[in-house]
Amino acid sequence: MRPRSSEVLWHNLVWHRSRIPKHAFYLWLEFRAAHKTKDKLLAIGVLQSAGCVFFCRELESLEHLYFQCPYTENIWKRVLALCNISKPILSWLEEVQWMIEHMKGDNFLEMVRKLALAATVFHIWLERNRRCFNNRFLSSQEII
Ligand SMILES: [Zn+2]
Repeated sequence: MRPRSSEVLWHNLVWHRSRIPKHAFYLWLEFRAAHKTKDKLLAIGVLQSAGCVFFCRELESLEHLYFQCPYTENIWKRVLALCNISKPILSWLEEVQWMIEHMKGDNFLEMVRKLALAATVFHIWLERNRRCFNNRFLSSQEII
């Protein structure tokens, strides 16, 4: 039997039967590390600086956006609380691992939590782009 790839492990978090297509697509992009974050654009010379748009003075990277930035960490913590989850926020890979281990099924609560993860990733990326390109800012409460 062939070992399961990491892609297979998170497949059920993204492509479950109740998914919202655009949220699932953005979550899939996140798992594929396909978002063009500022650290990547800085590395290829497209940008001169890669400061986080949430004013925390850190470098914007996928790891930072999800959920090491205080702004996004606060959003994720509050979304988890709405899903009756109380735990420390970990690095992105550890969060994904936690979600994979705790959301293996398709019952209502697990489905809501999977939807919450995908919606959070989608709306944080949307807010990041809104701040980058439209100079408009929503509060974390509005994102939640
Ligand atoms: Zn930040």
